[in-house]
Formats: sequence, structure tokens, C-alpha cells
Amino acid sequence: MRAVAAGLVLAAVLVAGCSTAQPLVDVPASLTTLPLPSGAAVVSNVPGTAVESCDATASLRPSAEPGPTVQKIRKRGRLVAGIDQSTNLFSFRDPVSGELQGFDVDIAREVAREVLGNPDAVEFRLLTSPERISALQDGTVDIVIKAMTITCARAEQIAFSTVYFDASQRLLVPRDSPIQGPGDLAGKRVCSQVDTTSLATVSRVAPKATLLAVRNWDDCLVALQQGQAEAVSTDNSILAGMAVQDPSLHLVGPSLEAEPYGIGVNKSQDDLVRAVNAALERIRRDGTWSSLYLKWLTVLGPPPSPPQAKYRD
Ligand code: GLU
Repeated sequence: MRAVAAGLVLAAVLVAGCSTAQPLVDVPASLTTLPLPSGAAVVSNVPGTAVESCDATASLRPSAEPGPTVQKIRKRGRLVAGIDQSTNLFSFRDPVSGELQGFDVDIAREVAREVLGNPDAVEFRLLTSPERISALQDGTVDIVIKAMTITCARAEQIAFSTVYFDASQRLLVPRDSPIQGPGDLAGKRVCSQVDTTSLATVSRVAPKATLLAVRNWDDCLVALQQGQAEAVSTDNSILAGMAVQDPSLHLVGPSLEAEPYGIGVNKSQDDLVRAVNAALERIRRDGTWSSLYLKWLTVLGPPPSPPQAKYRD
């Protein structure tokens, strides 16, 4: 009875609300006057990506033979994986348990299963995109698994596994936006994360766009919602994770660039690269890759076949 009464009061308030033209709060004249997310900057002169000149997606053949790096990890008893905490679907914190979850998190556990026989023997270290390469070079982490695109420039600095996911860069805009593709971005503000292939590609395909560079993908989602950016551009896989959080947004336009994801390893640790590739080979064959896709990524469409491994030795 009390619920019915409360419902009637609410209905009355709503009807009254509809009949008055007065907004309940003052809406700022321009939402872009809100402070930008911490560390965000409007940038120009981002070097655009060159179209790839090498094939960095060919890696070393798998081997279960434990070399010095694998032995060191076994002695330590845990794999140290550099990962993100704000990429919905790939690596994010479950709001209830506080645990890191997602496709990248589960793939890291498969590598730990391979190297240590225990999927839980992983210590996650949070990394931003600009920290991915230095963390491998200075030994802060054993592997980086952070939606990381294999590129020729990066492959000069670190080693990559075979491809474990094929993404492609696109645009995310509000459903009522006139932006349909890169040709509509001149004079528009486009959000992307600093030190990513995404930012460099927007700069190449839409040189007349204004770039908003942020530290976390969540910041791009908020900037888009607050009208501080008119589009977000990055991998379809990351954009889909934002669209799930806000259904008023959708992906538009063609693929701007292929984004093959690899697991990063220190360039001198061939035995670890081979062990990581053994884990990836196993999960492609035994159905684990497909079940992880079904667990996290069906919003991208029905599961494709796992990416085929390419080897260079
Ligand atoms: N795949 C892109 C890259 O590796 C964006 C992913 C990210 O930085 O989180 O640069």
C-alpha cells in the first residue's frame, strides 16, 4: 500500500516536472568548461604512424624447454604481468570483488599455467600505456599484456608473442552525432590515450582534428559523455567496452588500422617468448581461446577462429 502511495507521489512529481519548462538545475552554457581529466592535454604535432614496413607479427616457435628466464620465474614461484585496470572487457576491476578481470587477465593466467602449472600464480602490476616498454626493459615485469598492438617500431625495443587477438581501430561517438567516419573529424575534438597507436593513427587519418590525449581509457569515456570530446578513437575491442557501459554511444566508420595484439617480453628473453607462444598455441587448439572470447567479447560478434600463429624460425 505504502509502495502504491509512493508511486502515486512519484507520478505526480513527474507529471508536474513535465508541465514546467524550468530546469531543476542550472546547466552550464558549455560543458567543455568542466575541468579536463587529470593529466589530459590538447595536443598537436603527434607524429602520425608510418604504414607498417615490416611484419613484426612473426614470432619464435613454442618450446616447453625451460631456459634461464623461465627457470628464474619458477624459482620465484609467480609470473609478474604488467596490465591495465581501466580497459573494460580486457582488464578492469570488478566493482564488487575489486579483482582484476577480463580477456587479458585470463590470457595472463594461461601463461602462468604454462610456466608454473598454476593459473593463479600471477602478480599483476598496473601499467599505463607509456610504461609498457620501459617496464619490460628494466625488468619490473616479466610480460606485458595490455591490449598492446605489435608494431615494427615497438618490435625494435621489445619481443612479442604471436598474435592473440586481432583488433582494428575505429571511432566511438554519441548515437545522435553527425560524425560517421574519419572524413567528418576536421575541427572536431577526438580523445585517445597518450603513447598509443590510436593517437598516432588519428593524427595520420584526420590531421585537421584536435587531439585530446588522456592517461586512461575511462577518461575518454567521461570526456565524450561531458561533451569535452566529440569522438573517441582506439581499438574496436576497447570502444566496445565503453559502448557497453553507455548505450547512448556507438562505433562508426571503417577500420582505420589493423591492431594485432601481442604479449610483450624483454627482447633478450627468447625462452620466455617461446613459453608464452606455447601457452597461446595450447589455448588456440584446446578451445580455451574460444571460451574466453565467449566469456568476454561476444559484444564484438560471434567468436572468430583464434588468430593463426606466424613463426619466423
Ligand atoms: N592497441 C593500442 C596500443 O597498443 C591501444 C591500447 C592501449 O594502449 O591500451 O597502443
